[in-house]
Amino acid sequence: MVSSTSKPSSQQLLCLADVGCNMSTARCAVVLIIALCCAPAPVSAQTIDVARFFAGAALGLGFHESAHLIADGAFGANPGVRKVSAGFIPFFAITHEPVSPTKEFIISSAGFWAQHIGTEITLAKHPQLREEHAPMLKGLLAFNVVTSVIYAGAAFVRHGPAERDTRGIAVSADVDEPWVGVTVLAPAVLDTARYYRPNSRTLRWASRAAKVGGTLLIFRAAGREQPAVK
Ligand SMILES: [Zn+2]
Repeated sequence: MVSSTSKPSSQQLLCLADVGCNMSTARCAVVLIIALCCAPAPVSAQTIDVARFFAGAALGLGFHESAHLIADGAFGANPGVRKVSAGFIPFFAITHEPVSPTKEFIISSAGFWAQHIGTEITLAKHPQLREEHAPMLKGLLAFNVVTSVIYAGAAFVRHGPAERDTRGIAVSADVDEPWVGVTVLAPAVLDTARYYRPNSRTLRWASRAAKVGGTLLIFRAAGREQPAVK
């Protein structure tokens, strides 16, 4: 029962995350152009920082979606895009053809793995990020944390588009989706704590352990593979 059979897996719970991000970015672009032309110097500088923050968030979205597409491509899963909606908000879902449990797990997890890598690189190179003037990096980190929190919420209540990542992971590894939500939420909470307490080795390694722990579910997915026919 490889999940999504006719429905691809990846993406989207982003009901709020991705969509909200896209819509906010578009609106901000218009507002920022006006503001940059008309506002006095101090306000312009602040506005540019806001633009950089959203650019960082958009970069995070790009990494997340690209990771799904790369995994789809690597497995020849023929990725596509399907229009879906969350309530009255229209957005898109990246779809793919039915694949084995292990491949489904990897495709559905790829977005989170991209987030984990991005966050680790960011916090490793900028452990004191909170004290730095780095709006783009803060936007990237914020996207990673907020997206994980929203995905975790969707997993806890088992609600959202059928293509949502946490469902794909849960079905492929044969675990209850709320537990997948826990593996998604834990790194987000710990990374947020690291942002505020950068000198804590405990938080740093607990966060990394949580990321690896979620990845280990791949062995459950692998255990569900059909034995080769002799
Ligand atoms: Zn995703």
